[in-house]
Amino acid sequence: MKPKQTNIERFSGHVSSGDRAALLGQRPLTVWLTGLSASGKSTIGYALERRLLSLGHACYVLDGDNLRHGLNRDLGFSVTERRENIRRTAEMAKLLNDAGLIVIAALISPRRDDRAMAREIIGDSLFVEIYLSTPLDTCEQRDPKGLYARARCGEIAEFTGISAPYETPLDPDLTFDTSRTEIHASVSLIVEHLQSR
Ligand code: ADP
Repeated sequence: MKPKQTNIERFSGHVSSGDRAALLGQRPLTVWLTGLSASGKSTIGYALERRLLSLGHACYVLDGDNLRHGLNRDLGFSVTERRENIRRTAEMAKLLNDAGLIVIAALISPRRDDRAMAREIIGDSLFVEIYLSTPLDTCEQRDPKGLYARARCGEIAEFTGISAPYETPLDPDLTFDTSRTEIHASVSLIVEHLQSR
């Protein structure tokens, strides 16, 4: 989408994204974790950050729930607001990638076209889509924040998996089911995948 204002020009600096990445000695990427609530996105996202940090990489986690306390605090869960939530997060990921960082984004991001938008904003070559295919019944049994119970009672509207759809990725870079894979094993699978790219 074009900017609302037409009289705005870009100003180019003197340091390129390649310069910044070279300083950090890494190739920036955005690891986009998608899946149902309680599928393990935050748990794995933060564990991945820890592992990458210990391997000498500068990373940053963009966690959907955390962003809703600040940058996205004005947004709800309608289709339009979820799309805006993803657009802002993707734009943030793009800036952080430009700064040289590896970004780990953990958002339900239930719609294919919204994830495609995120891929387009961030850039195909930098976008790594990882689908946590943990089944709904496992997520519902875990229910770490009691949200499924509240959604089942009708206290939370438009809850993904209960009263709002989740569209499974058609061609993710990696898929795993955290009801069958331990946290450290999931993190290892992602690190191996990143190293193979
Ligand atoms: P999401 O960010 O997808 O909503 P969370 O990471 O907040 O999910 O919650 C997942 C819950 O499942 C956590 O309480 C976590 O401890 C638990 N869990 C149990 N086994 C696993 C596993 N193998 N991988 C990830 N999370 C797991």
